[in-house]
Formats: sequence, C-alpha cells, structure tokens
Amino acid sequence: MATVPTLTLNNGVEIPQLGFGVYQIPPAETADAVATALDLGYRHIDTAEMYGNEKGVGQAVARSGIERDEIFVTSKLNNGFHRREDALRAFDRTLADLGFDHLDLFLVHWPLPGIDVDYVETWKAMEEIYAGGRCRAIGVSNFREHHLRRLFGETEVRPTVNQIEVHPYLAQDDLRAFDAEHQIVTEAWSPIAQGKVLGDPVITAIADRLGRTPAQVVLRWHVQRGDVVFPKSSSSERMAENFALFDFELGTEDMAALTALDRGERTGPDPDTFNWVPRG
Ligand code: NAD
Repeated sequence: MATVPTLTLNNGVEIPQLGFGVYQIPPAETADAVATALDLGYRHIDTAEMYGNEKGVGQAVARSGIERDEIFVTSKLNNGFHRREDALRAFDRTLADLGFDHLDLFLVHWPLPGIDVDYVETWKAMEEIYAGGRCRAIGVSNFREHHLRRLFGETEVRPTVNQIEVHPYLAQDDLRAFDAEHQIVTEAWSPIAQGKVLGDPVITAIADRLGRTPAQVVLRWHVQRGDVVFPKSSSSERMAENFALFDFELGTEDMAALTALDRGERTGPDPDTFNWVPRG
C-alpha cells in the first residue's frame, strides 16, 4: 500500500496530504463508503456538519479497528453557528456525532461576510475550542486574503489551513502564495472540479502519454504543488484510482500546462457574496 506523504501544520500537527471527502455522500451510505476508503489505505477524512454525515464517518472509524490516532478527521462549523455560544455547542455536537473524544481539525466553513455575526467573533470561539484541548488544530475554509488579514490583525491563533476551491480551471495561485507566506497550508476542495476538468484535451493528452487517468494527472498536479486534496467518490474503483498517485511524477512542462488552464472559473459560490445560512 502506498505511503501518503504528510505535511506539518504551523502548530506541529501532521496531516496526510491525500484524504477522502464525503460531501454529497448520503448519510445512510457514508459508513460503508468511509469503510471502503479506510480499507484502501486512506487515513484522512474530510466531513462537515453541513454534509449531515458525521455519524457515518464516526461509525466507520469505530468499526475499522484502526487506532483513532492513525486517522486524521476534519469537520467544519456550519453557517448557522457563527455566534460564540452556538459555535461552542456546535463543536460539542460534532464530537458527539462522530463519537470521538477529540477532533483533528475543525474549520470555519465559510466567512459569511454579510451576516450579522462578524467572523472575527467566530474565530475567537475557534480559539477557545482549540484552547480546550479537544481539537488538535483549527483553520478556515473559503477565506480570501482580506478575510485572513482581519484575523491576523484582531486575533491570536494563526489558522493552520485554508480550505478553498482549487482545480486547473481555478488555479488560485495568488491566494495559495499568500497562504504559504503566512504558514497556512492550502487544502484544495473540488480538486477535479467535480469531474468538469477530466475531459479537457490538455489533461487527456498528458494522461494518455503517461498511461494514467485524467483524475490521477490532476490530483498529482495538486500534490506536487504542495496542497492537500480529498477527492470524493462513491465507487471503490475510483477511490483506488484516486489513491494511486505516488508512483509517478509530472514533469515541469506538464505541471505548467495544467496551471495554464486557469480561467478563474468557480464550480461553487464566491466567498465574498455567499451568505447562506441553513434554517432551523
Ligand atoms: P471532486 O472534485 O472531488 O469531484 C467529485 C466528483 O467527481 C464525484 O461526482 C465523483 O463521482 C467524480 N469522480 C471522483 N473520482 C473520479 C475519477 N477518478 N474519475 C472520474 N470521476 C471521478 O468534488 P467535491 O466532492 O466537491 O470535493 C471534494 C471534497 O472537498 C468534498 O467531498 C468535501 O470534503 C470538500 N469540499 C469542501 C467545500 C468547502 O466549502 N469547504 C466545498 C466542496 C467540497
């Protein structure tokens, strides 16, 4: 089984660079999907309260027989819980749903700059959660440079990661460089743009030449750029395909050709205007 490299976060915690994402996996199917991923060698799972499937992740981890500290689990604070007291309670619920005594990484899912709670208050609650010792690292998701600068100016703890949309059609090189300058690891969500980049002729030509699949070429590009990725799939064949990234390399020209596909195209919302809060 291939060894997945780890990256070291700015507080010394190690994170496997490749994981398994569970967005859009129905709750009733999540335990089986995560069990398959763990069998294939994945040791990093990315979930969120918003996905409604934390319980399934926890069940699969518990049933796997693998030591808890060998599996890195991330979850995220949902948009309705940005107020301090709500955030503290939401973290407790996430731990209870996972059935864990600690979480590896907890993220603010979206900055929500237009709602009536300032994300600086939310981040201060995250600092309290971190100080409480039941979460090994805290970070943010979908933060742009100006959101991060406010945290740097007004709070104490530096986020360990920034989880943002990144793929060949949205290379995000400016924000990734900003993250890196500030010792923040970039995690690339929707790393294959939910499949939209896989038919691109530049990508299929590289894949054909190397005898790899388009998904493997794109995921390998992310890994060589130093980002963390956690592609989602419900099929064990694709999970295995997406895990087989560590026995080949892309040359400088192929790396540049993928990066040159950037056209600033999002598959998801723009963090500056996304202010959606689930009801109830
Ligand atoms: P993705 O880029 O991982 O693509 C998933 C889609 O591609 C699925 O439909 C799957 O069937 C298909 N696919 C997977 N492997 C394939 C392969 N080898 N060949 C062909 N098709 C394949 O998209 P995603 O699920 O949106 O993103 C991955 C993870 O990122 C999520 O599961 C979640 O954990 C995280 N995420 C976070 C945010 C956020 O706001 N923080 C937003 C979206 C996703």
